[in-house]
Amino acid sequence: MVSYEVICYNCKKKFRVFPGSTRYKQFKKNRNSIFCCEDCSHNIRLEAIKNFFRGI
Ligand SMILES: [Zn+2]
Repeated sequence: MVSYEVICYNCKKKFRVFPGSTRYKQFKKNRNSIFCCEDCSHNIRLEAIKNFFRGI
């Protein structure tokens, strides 16, 4: 399986993208685009939800 190593823009940790994932498609389209690891995207999602509820 071909996977690529990318760096998370948030925590600067390296992580791998695997074929079939959204990030992999994104990587194939544009290698210079911004990538975010699983942990950070989870945290960002949580923050977004929190902010959403705060805004009500
Ligand atoms: Zn991260």
